[in-house]
This record gives sequence, C-alpha cells and structure tokens, in this order.
Amino acid sequence: MAPDSIGAELGLLPGTELLAVNGRALEDFLDWEFLSADERLLLRARLPTGEELEYDIERPEGLPMGVTLEAPRIRRCANHCDFCFVDGNPVGLRAPLYIRDDDYRLSFRYGNFATLTNLKSWDVERIIEYRLSPLYVSVHATDPTIRRWLLRNPEAPEIVPQLRWFTERGIAFHAQVVLVPGVNDGVVLERTLADLYAIGPGVLSVSVVPVALTEFSKLHLLREPTSPECLAALGVVDRMAARALAERGTPWCFGADDLYLQAGEPLPAAEWYGEFEQRENGVGAVRFLQTRIAAAVGRMPTLAGKRIGVVTGKAMGRLMPQVLDGLGAATDGRFEIVTVENTLFGPSVTTAGLLPAAAIEAALRARPDLDLVLLPAEAVNDDLRFIDDVDVHDLADRLPSPVRLSYDFVDVLEGA
Ligand code: SF4
Repeated sequence: MAPDSIGAELGLLPGTELLAVNGRALEDFLDWEFLSADERLLLRARLPTGEELEYDIERPEGLPMGVTLEAPRIRRCANHCDFCFVDGNPVGLRAPLYIRDDDYRLSFRYGNFATLTNLKSWDVERIIEYRLSPLYVSVHATDPTIRRWLLRNPEAPEIVPQLRWFTERGIAFHAQVVLVPGVNDGVVLERTLADLYAIGPGVLSVSVVPVALTEFSKLHLLREPTSPECLAALGVVDRMAARALAERGTPWCFGADDLYLQAGEPLPAAEWYGEFEQRENGVGAVRFLQTRIAAAVGRMPTLAGKRIGVVTGKAMGRLMPQVLDGLGAATDGRFEIVTVENTLFGPSVTTAGLLPAAAIEAALRARPDLDLVLLPAEAVNDDLRFIDDVDVHDLADRLPSPVRLSYDFVDVLEGA
C-alpha cells in the first residue's frame, strides 16, 4: 500500500480482495480504475482474514487510492496463426512466453495488438462505457475468408463491420497488417488498406509489417517475404499514403522499418511518422531514435576518449550507423555497434528485443576495452530478465565492462 494514500489511511492490507465499488462488482484493473475515479465511493472489500467490510470513501482531490493490483488474468487467444510467436519459441523458456494473449484491455493500456475475435458482449459494452480508445488491432486482411485463414479461426467475425460499429461510437484504432507473402500481399493488401481507409478517420493509422519467423516456426506452411515482395508491398503502401496525404493531410499508412530494410529502400524522414504512434511496432523506430538524440544534443556530456559499445540485433545493426553518427557528433565519444546474432531463435530473428543474455555474453566476454556498454532495454521483462531467464545483474557480473539498459541512448548518456 502506498503511504499518503487513501488505501493506507483505510488500513487496507496486502492480500485484501476488492469486491465492488458503488455496488458494481470488480472484474479487473479497468473496473477498479474507472469506478474508483469518483470523488465519493462505496468500496466493498474482503480482508485477508476473510472479513468483509464496506468503506464509505470521500476522496480529497489529488489523493491517490494507492492500491497496487495483482496482474490481471490474461485473456487467451482464440486464434492459431501459423506465424504465431508462441509456435516460434524454442522449448525451455519461461512459461508466460508460451501464452497466446489476445486482450483488448492490454491493447488499451500498453498498445498490444489484439484481434477482437474473442470479445464477449460484456467486453464490447465495457469498451464503449470506459471509452477504451485507441485500441491496437491486428487486421491482416479485411477479406473475411483470408483473415480467417490467416488467424486459423473460422469463427472470426468480419473485421470491417466490427471496426465501423466501434468507430461510430467514438472508439479509434491503430491497425496492423502482418504481411504473409502469397496470402495477404498484392491485391489483397490493396483491398485491405482501401477498406480500412473507407471506415473513416476512426482508423487512425495502419502499419504493414513483414512476417517474422524463427527456426521453430511452421516453415513448411509459410515463409518471410523476399526483397522484391517487400518492395512491391511498399509500392502499395506508398500509393495509399499519397492518397491519404492529399485527402487527410497524413500518410496514415506506414511500412515498418523492416519492410524498408528488406526492400533495400531508404527510410522516410522523421516528419513522415507524425507522432510515431506505431514505433513500438517497429514503425519509424529508427527515425524516432534520431529525433530523440537530436533533441538532446545540448544536454549530452562530453565523452571524448570513451569507447561505448551499443548492443543490438542484426536488423537494427544495419540501421544503427545512421543513429550513432548523431550520438558521436553530439558527445565526441566513439560508439561501436556490437551486432549480436540470436543463438536461441536462430539467425533469422534479428530484433534486439529477443536477444538472449547468453548471446550477449558471448559477444562481450572479450571486450574489456569498452568503457560502457548499452544493452537494449526492450530485451528484458519487468523483472529485468532476458528471454533465456537470465537476470540483467547476473549478466553484468559476468562481463568485463560496465553495462546499462537503454531504450534510446539518451536516457543513459544524459546522466553519464
Ligand atoms: S492472434 Fe495469432 S499471433 Fe497473436 S497470439 Fe493469437 S495465434 Fe498468436
């Protein structure tokens, strides 16, 4: 319980079950956050002793409830996509990594993509009542047959009427298309983008992301797109973006950085991405980093004579020189890219976020010459553990140079 909070004042103990607010049963963190926002509330709770109590709470403005909730039970996915990351996992990882989650609540809170194929009428009502907007939705294809095939879910509702219904009620969406060659590229992609655009401004943006597979994926059923296929998909994206720019003043439709990389095309300028709303999805991530660095130039320390290693995966390894040039110029430091191959998922997995600690350790074990090493912060979970369950502090103890987790370099270097 946080001190100086209502929860502490009431004497709520760890393990207390929050049952209802103003007579409405609490299902999860959403109910709690929305229902407890009122200034006056009647809270029913069950103490760890089993005793049930009711608290009549008048909340002084600004005083938080100070309650930390247990992590919500994740909503399981009803689909069986051939490209699912869960199938692409090797055996022996942490149990949560095998959970297929498809949860509109996490979509609202964290920007996770959901398919909306497992919504109950009660979920739909909550989305509207709590105005859970924007949501991040995996569309893949608007043609119902192709979408059901991609999701391996014959029950998946039609996505266009579903999105239209929500947008008419004030819910907005960011959409993504995971591009599977021979299935939802070409004319299917054209139709998907046109259908989503026709829904109106409630569909805020669409990203097109080439499918990423590992050695353990169902490679007998699907493959990654070739370079000419990525180029062709970029052509479709560009045509749609040109129309959206002319009609709505925003490109609206974006290729993931990986699509440009695999097509061998230069990335658009930072301005193209507007607010970088899909950067967590690898859309504009490189330009976002450059923007962050450019904005922090005046606040950066001098790092003359220092050697700084930057660990990344093979994907960003190819793009990183453009990012590090700006850092070197801003600090006079010598930045060195340490590109690490993924030994757990196989070399085809090139994202930094899935790098195992073992591969990072192997790459840095013989590098005492580095004054500091920046590790990709997205490669650890909330408990600071890498995908192979190694704690970042344990990794640091085994390395000859100091290491720091960093999202965008600026976060660490500003205080260096
Ligand atoms: S929607 Fe597809 S990719 Fe996502 S968790 Fe479900 S099966 Fe996996």
